Amino acid sequence: ATPTALMVGTGRGAQLGILIKGPEVLETTRKVDTVVLDKTGTVTTGKMTLLAVHSAASTDDAEVLRIAGALENASEHPIAQAVAAGAIEKTGPLATPEDFANIPGLGVQGIVNGHAVLVGRQKLLAEWEIQLPVELERAKADAEASGRTAIAVAWDGEARAILEVADAVKDTSAEAITRLRALGLTPILLTGDNKAVADAVAAEVGIDEVIAEVMPEDKVDVVKRLQAEGRSVAMVGDGVNDAAALAQADLGLAMGTGTDAAIEASDLTLVRGDLRAAADAIRLARRTLGTIR
Ligand code: ADP
Ligand code: MG
Repeated sequence: ATPTALMVGTGRGAQLGILIKGPEVLETTRKVDTVVLDKTGTVTTGKMTLLAVHSAASTDDAEVLRIAGALENASEHPIAQAVAAGAIEKTGPLATPEDFANIPGLGVQGIVNGHAVLVGRQKLLAEWEIQLPVELERAKADAEASGRTAIAVAWDGEARAILEVADAVKDTSAEAITRLRALGLTPILLTGDNKAVADAVAAEVGIDEVIAEVMPEDKVDVVKRLQAEGRSVAMVGDGVNDAAALAQADLGLAMGTGTDAAIEASDLTLVRGDLRAAADAIRLARRTLGTIR
C-alpha cells in the first residue's frame, strides 16, 4: 500500500475509535486469524457487584464483610472493589489493614484488626492448607453453576465464607463476536477465572473455545502455543495481567478503558472499550491494504 493509503486508513481508524500505533500495524492486523479475548473488563464490563455472602458457622455475614471488605479496599482489582463497596453499603466505614499484599491471579492477603486474612480463589487458601467446610464447598459450587465467581474468605487459618460476585457481559460483545466470525476469525476466551464462570460467559456471547483458570504469567504462554500451531494471533485485553500476552501477540489490542500497562503493550487501542471496534479494525486493515475493495 502507498503511504497515502496507510495515512487514510489510520485516519479512518481514528474516526472509528481505533488508535493505531504506526502504519506497519495495519499489515499485521490484516493477517490475523485467531482472536484471544480476555474475559474480565474486555468481554464483560468488569464492574463487579457483590451479590451474596455465605458465612461458615464460626462467624456471621457482618463480620465477614468488615474483615474481607477492609482488606479488599486496599486493592484495585474489580472483584476487590465490589467486595469493598458491598461491605461499606452493609456495614459502614471500613478499617485500614495493618498489612496488605496483592497476589496476582489469586487474591489478597493481609492483616485486619489483628487477624491474618486471605481473600481470593480457593487455590489461595489451599496454598495455606486451609480447606473449605462442606457447607462452603456447596455454596461455591452453587454460585459457579449459575455463572458467578465464588471468592473464598479465611482468617486465622480457617475458611470463613464464600462471597458471590458477578459482572455483566457488555451489550456489544455478542455482536462483536458475530462480526469477528463473519471475517473468518476464530475467537477464544482466556481468563484467570473459574471454568464454569468462563463457560457461562462464552455461551452468552457465542464463543466455543475457552481457556480458563490461567495464571496471569501464563497468559503469554497460551499466545505462544497458538503461534506455535501456526496461527496469527490477536489478543484483546485491558489489565496489567494481560500486558505480556498483548506484547507477545502478533497484534495486541487494548481496551481504551483499561490500564496504561495494557495500552502501552498494544499495537491498537479500542478507545471506547467497545469490542466491535476490534472487528472494524481488522476489516479496515484488509480494506486499506487491498484485500477487500
Ligand atoms: P481475569 O483474567 O479474569 O482478568 P485475574 O487474573 O485478575 O482475572 O484473577 C483471577 C482470579 O483470581 C479471579 O477470578 C478471582 O477469583 C481471583 N482474584 C484475583 N484478585 C482478587 C482479589 N483482589 N479478590 C478476590 N479474588 C481475586
Ligand atoms: Mg481483564
